[in-house]
Amino acid sequence: MTEYRGARGTARVATLRVAVLRCTLIAAMSRVLARPCFIPQVSSRGRLLQPVDVHRHWTHVLIRMPAPRSASTRLTLVLSLCLALAGCRKAPVRVGAIDGGSSWYAGGATCGGRPAFRIREYRAGLFILRQPACTNYEKPFLYLLIGEARALLLDTGAGGIDVAAPIDSVLAAWRAAHGGTPRALIVAHSHGHGDHVAGDSQFRGRPGVTLVERDSASVRTFFGFAGSADRVTYDLGGRVLDVLAIPGHEPAGIAVHDRATGVLLTGDTFYPGRIYVRDTAAYASSIARLVAFTAARPTIVLLGTHIEQARTPYTDYAVGTQDQPDEDRLELSRAELVSLDSAVQAMRGRFTRTRLRRFTIWPQ
Ligand SMILES: [Zn+2]
Ligand SMILES: [Zn+2]
Repeated sequence: MTEYRGARGTARVATLRVAVLRCTLIAAMSRVLARPCFIPQVSSRGRLLQPVDVHRHWTHVLIRMPAPRSASTRLTLVLSLCLALAGCRKAPVRVGAIDGGSSWYAGGATCGGRPAFRIREYRAGLFILRQPACTNYEKPFLYLLIGEARALLLDTGAGGIDVAAPIDSVLAAWRAAHGGTPRALIVAHSHGHGDHVAGDSQFRGRPGVTLVERDSASVRTFFGFAGSADRVTYDLGGRVLDVLAIPGHEPAGIAVHDRATGVLLTGDTFYPGRIYVRDTAAYASSIARLVAFTAARPTIVLLGTHIEQARTPYTDYAVGTQDQPDEDRLELSRAELVSLDSAVQAMRGRFTRTRLRRFTIWPQ
């Protein structure tokens, strides 16, 4: 009986030691990891994956793992933790003006006195920037897609604000977390209208930057549209994009589909607001091709370059409105694209202003 109690007491002491060891390790990690700490991951095929959040994952591992039975196991555990901490890098999305909110409210007429782009990493390596309302009532959205070899910025905004600096800061944070890549930046446009190209001069002639001019010929040459082709692929390095020519709103309009995330960027051709149509035949063809494309290629969400719609269905803010506190969400669905196509095809080339639930077809 006495021996049995002694064995149980010894086991309790051992368990207590392990618990103390774990608590010490967790406390040490928490102290070191007062700020977010991420370790880059590389897949077996050499592709960069999303970084692992050490703080979140390793604490869980420490709490749940079975007690290390031997001194060598404990030593291995401590050494692996040291190696992990040595490899820590700052998280790419926890810097500067990165914005974690859910609303895209653009700040109204004064921007609270501090005009700045709202910036969010919407999906891995896909950043959305929104221009503040006080700098231009159009308050367009800009998109930055990052691959292993190069990044693609779609649009440079409506002017009246520094756009190069926030792009530089996002890319610098990304490069710090990804071994200095990507090294090159392509600046192109969803289409050539003034509210999407006004910041071009901030990028023109900069080292490491290729600026694709706003006209249709420059766009087709850069992306490699051959002859009358209306669709090409463009590889950012481990991130393949489908680029579709979609004239109708403007001759140089393109849609960009990101295969990595299933996001389709549609520019001013399709967004929650007034969809201005200049060339009705070209527009009808473009929308029909987008419907066919998204039937074959997984498309999770469609994102345009403005919000003019209020959350109340069939209601838009008047042209020139700066303050839109009750604006609609940015995301559109493939079902809504199909409803646009149905409305357009029903017009049989004779476009009339037609209000649908979340957008209005607006021939000009
Ligand atoms: Zn436009
Ligand atoms: Zn626009």
